[in-house]
Amino acid sequence: MSKTLNQDQFAAALLCWHQQDGRTGLPWQNLHDPYAIWISEIMLQQTQVTTVLERYPRLMQRFPTVQALAAAPLDDVLAEWSGLGYYSRARNLHACAKQIVREYGGRFPQELTQLESLAGIGRSTAGAIAAFAFNLRTPILDANVKRVLARLFGIKGPVQSKTVSDQLWQLAQTLLPQEAKLMPRYTQALMDFGATWCTARQPICLSHQNSLVKKCPFENRCIAKQSNQVMALPEKVVKTKSPEFDCEMLIIQAQEQILLQRRPTEGIWGGLWSLPESSWQKITLDSFVQPPKIKKSFSAKKLLQMIFASDQVAEKVVDQFIKLSDKPTRGLLLKHVFTHRVLWIQSWRIQLNKPISIAGTDYAWFKLNELDTLGLPQAIRLIFREWNLIPDADKANE
Ligand code: SF4
Repeated sequence: MSKTLNQDQFAAALLCWHQQDGRTGLPWQNLHDPYAIWISEIMLQQTQVTTVLERYPRLMQRFPTVQALAAAPLDDVLAEWSGLGYYSRARNLHACAKQIVREYGGRFPQELTQLESLAGIGRSTAGAIAAFAFNLRTPILDANVKRVLARLFGIKGPVQSKTVSDQLWQLAQTLLPQEAKLMPRYTQALMDFGATWCTARQPICLSHQNSLVKKCPFENRCIAKQSNQVMALPEKVVKTKSPEFDCEMLIIQAQEQILLQRRPTEGIWGGLWSLPESSWQKITLDSFVQPPKIKKSFSAKKLLQMIFASDQVAEKVVDQFIKLSDKPTRGLLLKHVFTHRVLWIQSWRIQLNKPISIAGTDYAWFKLNELDTLGLPQAIRLIFREWNLIPDADKANE
């Protein structure tokens, strides 16, 4: 640990800062109910605060207790999560709620190791729940806290590496206040400081050229600041370019219904309803010159065969569609960016005169007015909006 900032000084300075400049009025602050804390922590992991502010109260109203969440069908949970992205969080919420009801009688366990053993709860989230709900002296180490500690103590090396991560966890543990009752406020203060003052792009210490802006309480003892390395820390891993893929997706409409396909539970958009799609093709470097596919055109038969491949459904659709019309209608090309890949989606639409029956598959027909209530990936939602199949009311981010 740095000689420049000891445990007592850090906690005291941070708590003092929080009293004056911490965030106030967020609905998940000052909670002691582990369920409410857990939901907020999971939502905040990969979703912007402004979106969570809108969606957290709604989710809590729909599933007010761990029992209510455990008893709900997974489809309802996914639908409620729709638009928030990173859907494994919703599946884990559901699995974790069931686990708590089944293994702990509906009460959150109070041991850190037990919390960490629950679905979707990592070490930092377990630490936050334990600190907020049970006043345990357990550290947190989310991305914001990693940044603050790496700067304050001049920790070099990428924070993703095991060596640096171990070092940061050790620091986070050492810095905890001695008094357990301070843990909720200390933990909130650390979160607030990383989220609002020692930010990735505009840390306050680089913004107070004019005397009206407040001064960071750690400025004189922060190694990054003292050595002019604030923006260099924490060190970033150089990202390689994400691979790009393309695929065709098909809106098959019959009267007032649309054919959807449930995605496999594991993998991208796991468990959500999506459009029938062709396999994702990796785009070669040459295709990057301009958006892929834009020049391509398919006959209805070719398109349906690409999408349904060996599935018996293909023939049924082909049969009915070919009798009706000859060309599918093309929609806009949509670029969807995942964490580690990019997908170009070309949507198409065809009309059948009546729904075809499909037994023993993951396909199902949904009425147009049901679409907005389903658990859909955000990209599919955008496609439906583009085709005016659902209203353009949901401004949620992904
Ligand atoms: S001095 Fe700057 S880098 Fe250091 S803790 Fe304060 S805001 Fe962060």
